Amino acid sequence: MKKVCIIYTGGTIGMTKTDKGYAPKEGYFKGALEEIDDLKREEIPDFELVEMHPLLDSSNMTLHEWNKISEEIEKRYDDFDGFVILHGTDTMAYTASALSFSLENLSKPVVLTGSQIPLCEIRSDGRDNLITSLMIAAGGIVNEVCLYFGGKLMRGNRATKYSADGLIAFKSPNFPLLAEAGIEIKYSQSLRESFCKGKFKACRFRPVPIGVIKVFPGIQFELFESIMTEKLKGIVIETFGAGNIPASENELLPIIEKAFKSGTVITVCSQCPEGSVALGTYETSSALKGAGAVSGHDITTEAAVCKLYYLFSKGYDASTVKNMMEENIRGEMSI
Ligand code: ASP
Repeated sequence: MKKVCIIYTGGTIGMTKTDKGYAPKEGYFKGALEEIDDLKREEIPDFELVEMHPLLDSSNMTLHEWNKISEEIEKRYDDFDGFVILHGTDTMAYTASALSFSLENLSKPVVLTGSQIPLCEIRSDGRDNLITSLMIAAGGIVNEVCLYFGGKLMRGNRATKYSADGLIAFKSPNFPLLAEAGIEIKYSQSLRESFCKGKFKACRFRPVPIGVIKVFPGIQFELFESIMTEKLKGIVIETFGAGNIPASENELLPIIEKAFKSGTVITVCSQCPEGSVALGTYETSSALKGAGAVSGHDITTEAAVCKLYYLFSKGYDASTVKNMMEENIRGEMSI
């Protein structure tokens, strides 16, 4: 019999109504699971529940919680066939990206899921999300960090929250689905990839000063000069289209050049969810390249942020981080 460990971190799936709105409640979830008769069926693997403390609305997730999740997985890695992480949807794509980097040499499924409607409500999507995730985690077919939601299994570091209220809340705009759950769970054979090259290890995140700037018409770049100091280790710039920034108000470039010279790693992402950055296609993006910025290709902002945290937490110097930001290390970008 396969064994799956469920790590419950909080999020809507286990929330109950309070007078201030939905909130997680300590000790409630075990009983909620016991009420789901389908979890007792023979198709469902044996599972064990680990409840994190405190339970969080995922808006409150930090690097500390990412490390706690990794530690829980590391402690039980040899005892289980797979892991399901129950998590709020708001930052699920960040945690999925973070774990895809920090769980080194992973050779078992780690499936993040949650719901838009709590399990305590009649129309909850949590029941199917949980049951299918348990089956995927026990299946041992997709041995990487992935995110299952609304019938779709995505590579974790390719997923992004797309809908605030739809039951198909996530998309993977630049990478095909790893599986689709219709009448059957249909895995895409050709996408199976292994990121395991040695012994499993969970790397810990350290707080690293990084930032994200989203450009917009009329942006006053000089406002950002004060944060672009040598203290800032990395920055993700969300540009227009294929990597373009407003060039007529050219103040960003000297600021970027200065930041680059003082050791900040500058990664260029696109505000378009679909497609890739191609620095140099337009005059407005060539200058970014010249100023020392690197292309994040089709990486999501979520994955770019987590990758910066990961690489700096490993202790790499700025030039190594810069090179690795342009390399595909866990399937997070297509080059
Ligand atoms: N605010 C909730 C959270 O992210 C939303 C959800 O779970 O869907 O924890």
